[in-house]
Amino acid sequence: MRINKKRLKTSMLEIGNIGKDSTGGITRLAFSHEYKVAAWRLSQLMEDAGLEVKQDPLATIYGRRDGEDNTLPAIMFGSHLDTVKNGGLYDGLLGIMSGLEVINTLNDLGITTKNPLELVAFNAEEGSAMGGTFASRVIAGLISPDKSFLQDHLPDYNLRPEDLLASRRNLNEIKAFLELHIEQGRVLEGENIPIGIVTGIAGITRYQVEIIGEANHSGTTPMGLRKDALVTAAKLILEVENIARELGEPFVATIGTLEIKPGAVSIIPGEVELIIEIRDLDQTKIDVAGGQITDYLNQISKDIQIERIVNKTPVKTAPDIVNIIEKACKKLGISGRKIISGAGHDAKEIARKVPTGMIFVPSIAGKSHCPEEKTSWEDIYLGTEVLLETILSI
Ligand SMILES: [Zn+2]
Repeated sequence: MRINKKRLKTSMLEIGNIGKDSTGGITRLAFSHEYKVAAWRLSQLMEDAGLEVKQDPLATIYGRRDGEDNTLPAIMFGSHLDTVKNGGLYDGLLGIMSGLEVINTLNDLGITTKNPLELVAFNAEEGSAMGGTFASRVIAGLISPDKSFLQDHLPDYNLRPEDLLASRRNLNEIKAFLELHIEQGRVLEGENIPIGIVTGIAGITRYQVEIIGEANHSGTTPMGLRKDALVTAAKLILEVENIARELGEPFVATIGTLEIKPGAVSIIPGEVELIIEIRDLDQTKIDVAGGQITDYLNQISKDIQIERIVNKTPVKTAPDIVNIIEKACKKLGISGRKIISGAGHDAKEIARKVPTGMIFVPSIAGKSHCPEEKTSWEDIYLGTEVLLETILSI
């Protein structure tokens, strides 16, 4: 192995433990004090590695390393520095610290790449009032600052609309983007394969559904005279499950939130609000499912409103880069398999503008967004080695 395992582990633990509490969970929310401390210390480590470090108004950090020809577009790699509340060590951070280790290894080996390199640590990937993958969407020019919800929330983070414009990047300056990330599922672990080569990142659609029934006394209203909104909701939930199973893998559908009004033991539910989330790699399948759900709702009740509140389309990673990662695995004698990502990532946003590749390493028991989140150090070293080889090949 060319990378320095000890250096990678030490730096990962140092930055990763910023925001750790007594329960072992890590909370490094976007724009928080903990985020700023981690960003400051990471910038120091990046400078120590000889990178030219910059921070944009959204507190995304860039570190640039010269290539043989600095007029060529850069190869960018990295991930996000923020975490969820009470999250784990590896989500996001792995992609940054493995990238830093790649830079340090190139320094050790005295290698100058043809193209310049850029290591990036994105802010606000995890969901917030501004939505997930915030910084990467801003950088890719996918958010216009005049959106009303932004006007409401930007002041909470001491941000102005012009800060968003100033954080946009000209992505013609980037030749390729790479992100090493934990799988957050259990496919790789189940097959005992250390490397996942991501071929696509699922699109996400969410429907808000409002079912109107009739609230009434639970003791005096006979079954035949009821309009129970929750019973209608129950039928819908089962149908959504059927539709998802029939469309087949990797299609998934989930109803994870449901509100019953007025919500008392002795009152027939008068209203139910729920959100249906569907994910797939194929937007057509997502739209077909949406149509089937709407048709079913129209069949079972007239008092239902359905509205699509989220529609993030799926993206494919660049086939050329998938090939390069596959070859890197073969060359290094490390087994890898193609995989899709059901979770969203910064790479998904950047992939809309730049040829992008993603490398997964296994999550033990598939756990993520919790203190138990874990990936073996051996898999982290293998993933970093594949990242290094991929960057050199590109
Ligand atoms: Zn992540």
